[in-house]
Amino acid sequence: MAGRVSILGVFVADLTFRADRQPSIGETLLGTGFALGPGGKGSNQAVAAARAGAETVIITRLGRDMFADMADEIWAEAGVRGAVMRGATPTGAAHIYVENGSGDNAIIIYPGAAGEISVADVESQRVEIEHSDVFITQLEQPLKAAIAALEIAKAAGVTTILNPAPARALPQEIYPLCDYVTPNETEAEQLTGIKVVDIPSATQAAERFCDLGAKGAIITLGAQGALLFDGKEARHVPAVVAGEVVETTGAGDAFNGSFAAALARGLDPLAATGFGCAAAGISVTRPGTAPSMPTRAEIEALLSTL
Ligand code: ATP
Repeated sequence: MAGRVSILGVFVADLTFRADRQPSIGETLLGTGFALGPGGKGSNQAVAAARAGAETVIITRLGRDMFADMADEIWAEAGVRGAVMRGATPTGAAHIYVENGSGDNAIIIYPGAAGEISVADVESQRVEIEHSDVFITQLEQPLKAAIAALEIAKAAGVTTILNPAPARALPQEIYPLCDYVTPNETEAEQLTGIKVVDIPSATQAAERFCDLGAKGAIITLGAQGALLFDGKEARHVPAVVAGEVVETTGAGDAFNGSFAAALARGLDPLAATGFGCAAAGISVTRPGTAPSMPTRAEIEALLSTL
């Protein structure tokens, strides 16, 4: 049994430009590098879930343009099915400027079509959510759509995950709809006011999410792994070292997608968290975001060596 994962989320095309400095208004600069790749947390998590072995569907909006074709292509490659609404608004894109030397970045994101995902869109895909084992969403699309989808999932007895990224003020009513909230350290701090620096502070933040109404919480802690709190007991799951770290962008998406896939297959929360940490541990040894997501066989091979 593969287990079924449904995802409400966003695809954007990432356009990464490298240069020595940013141009001023009115100026044109010669860059030193460029890359075009698939991005958007929902899309990245869908690719991670499918590669990790789940039957995966992504509910989203795209335009009718080259970037939409790119989304279709990466999903077809990974085995993600699209429940996609298409309209005249262009597919979203991110302009990522990376400064040579420092590696620091400055980003403009235009959510495009995905910014128009509505409650009616979610309603029209109700069956996709109800027929899944696990539903996951993030905060890149309109909040109302996320809440509507969580309500449908919860009412149908589907396990729900909210990856509250990027962090934003949330209404209290959202938490009781979540079986798991999965923030990173920064998001956990923004949402709870508790500064997360170590396992005890992560535990405190996770307890706070449960006080707010979530059933469980997982705080991802970068190279420190993840803290799982099931409402009663806190367990620290260490990060998995799979080789030299090349790029950590998308580690959170690797964790969330593969954690959802593992839960959908029937693994218990602790084992699913370990599976997520192993998947994310592999993804950070590879460049890119979606292309760095490992397969179930790769993740299980790594776990068998621990
Ligand atoms: P990003 O925003 O970079 O995509 P994030 O901040 O959302 O990531 P993190 O908490 O940094 O998420 O990482 C998610 C998971 O990835 C961690 O729980 C851990 O398992 C794994 N991970 C992150 N960094 C490393 C690392 N350097 N080595 C091994 N595993 C890592």
